[in-house]
Amino acid sequence: MSRVGVLGGGQLGRMMGLAGLPLGMEFVFLDPSRDACAAQLGELLQAGFSDIEAARTLAGMVDVATFDFENVPRDSAHALAELKPLFPPPMALGACQDRLEEKRILTELGISVAPNYAVSSRTDLLYGLDQLGWPSVLKTRRLGYDGKGQVVLRDPEDLERAWQALGDDELILEKFIPFEAECSLVAVRGQDRETRYWPLARNVHHEGILMLSLADDFDAELQAQAEVIMQSVLDYFDYAGVLTLEFFLQDGQLLVNEMAPRVHNSGHWTIDGAETSQFENHLRAIAGLPLGGTSATRQSLMFNWIGKLPDAEKLLSIPGLHWHDYGKSSRPGRKIGHATLTHANRAGLIEQAQRVAALAGGHFPALMRQLPGFSA
Ligand code: AMP
Repeated sequence: MSRVGVLGGGQLGRMMGLAGLPLGMEFVFLDPSRDACAAQLGELLQAGFSDIEAARTLAGMVDVATFDFENVPRDSAHALAELKPLFPPPMALGACQDRLEEKRILTELGISVAPNYAVSSRTDLLYGLDQLGWPSVLKTRRLGYDGKGQVVLRDPEDLERAWQALGDDELILEKFIPFEAECSLVAVRGQDRETRYWPLARNVHHEGILMLSLADDFDAELQAQAEVIMQSVLDYFDYAGVLTLEFFLQDGQLLVNEMAPRVHNSGHWTIDGAETSQFENHLRAIAGLPLGGTSATRQSLMFNWIGKLPDAEKLLSIPGLHWHDYGKSSRPGRKIGHATLTHANRAGLIEQAQRVAALAGGHFPALMRQLPGFSA
């Protein structure tokens, strides 16, 4: 069975490792940190992501390679791909590293996105605001994640503060979408182009960070709409591996907010609530193995643990709760674990979810009320 090289040794790499060991796979993770949390699942090649020689060394140690974050430097990805198969394709990686390029490609494919303008000067910003109106969202084109590198412009008073914070970077101004819901579709495509989709998840964010993902919460029509969009993106990149699309839902229509060429936080529920997890299917796809089924086997709601873990002992007394500690040190704003609550039916899921939210505390009780049917 394959030796898999992973650029990045964070929690996504770690969960790939957890899924891959039973398949008989072995892992080498390239990461600059000695404490990379994936390292417990394989060998650690400690090196910087822009270290081209290290990328080549990794290629020499494995049969196939992938990555667990999308900001892998282009040159490292290409150096690796010259020596060993790298999935998803480096072209998709490049497109997802620049919000403007990403939106250009999606628009070319006929997919709806938030109207937007490139901004590299104050003049561009004023022009964009004139066209899009208020509120709008100013974002860095590159290296933004979890709401970092973005500011909502609600009135002219926000302008100077936003420019001071972001003006040194290349930017994109997007129209603010007053969405009814946020959701995401995780799909996997094999090297033989066979494609499978997990059910859409409804996502709730707080300050730009994903906090809750409720699996399988939309009707077949919206699922079909999302799958059509996904199919055209997968075809465009001649993709292999897992791809995630994040959507805004407005008036029954899906607008793509972002694509992630990798396994995704909103797909973590698949470990405990789907026939095959996103991690296992990603590995099957890149290793050229047949894909597993993607149906939900039960109702699932994922809670993300940000900054610090709640009391595991108390939470584990709740039936159907599955605990995932990433083995990372606590730090404000850092994703250090998650739990997925599962139940055979929706009513039971709601009842137990209220207990989880009460015990986890913080923003969870309020955030959970954003899920239709979950308010007490
Ligand atoms: P992003 O880093 O682009 O995924 O943005 C993080 C979160 O900010 C999203 O999940 C939304 O909740 C919010 N957001 C981003 N862009 C927009 C937009 N154009 N309109 C409304 N909300 C947005």
